[in-house]
Amino acid sequence: MAEKKEVYLGYTTDKALTPWYVEWLAALEQERIMKSVCTSCKAEYLPPRQHCQKCLSVTEFADFTETEAKLVSYVIVDFAPESLSSKAPYVVAIGEFPSGLRLTAHITNLMSLPEVGMALKLGFDRVDDKKVTYRWLV
Ligand SMILES: [Zn+2]
Repeated sequence: MAEKKEVYLGYTTDKALTPWYVEWLAALEQERIMKSVCTSCKAEYLPPRQHCQKCLSVTEFADFTETEAKLVSYVIVDFAPESLSSKAPYVVAIGEFPSGLRLTAHITNLMSLPEVGMALKLGFDRVDDKKVTYRWLV
């Protein structure tokens, strides 16, 4: 039986432990993320998608090594869903890497209000044995 793991964004392996998903989890376990690249039109996706939203072709995983980004947008969540209510208020931010790919994640180490354009760094946390998270650090 496969070991159960959870990903920060609310996905769990209870629902679909596909080979694609297993590869994504394995990368997270090694504290790295993967992008996906369309096998037809070469569009790139972060987080990865199994199918290209432009041409519907399948995608394949590719290493993603960028860790520095700029804040392009954020929201301060005061009224959180039940599962995150203990963390409210918290900040969810969209960071853009130099390649132009964007990633949404929490910022967890803010000492003041975020500012569009500020530098972000991709970080990883091990919440417990079964959960690996990625987040923005400032
Ligand atoms: Zn495509």
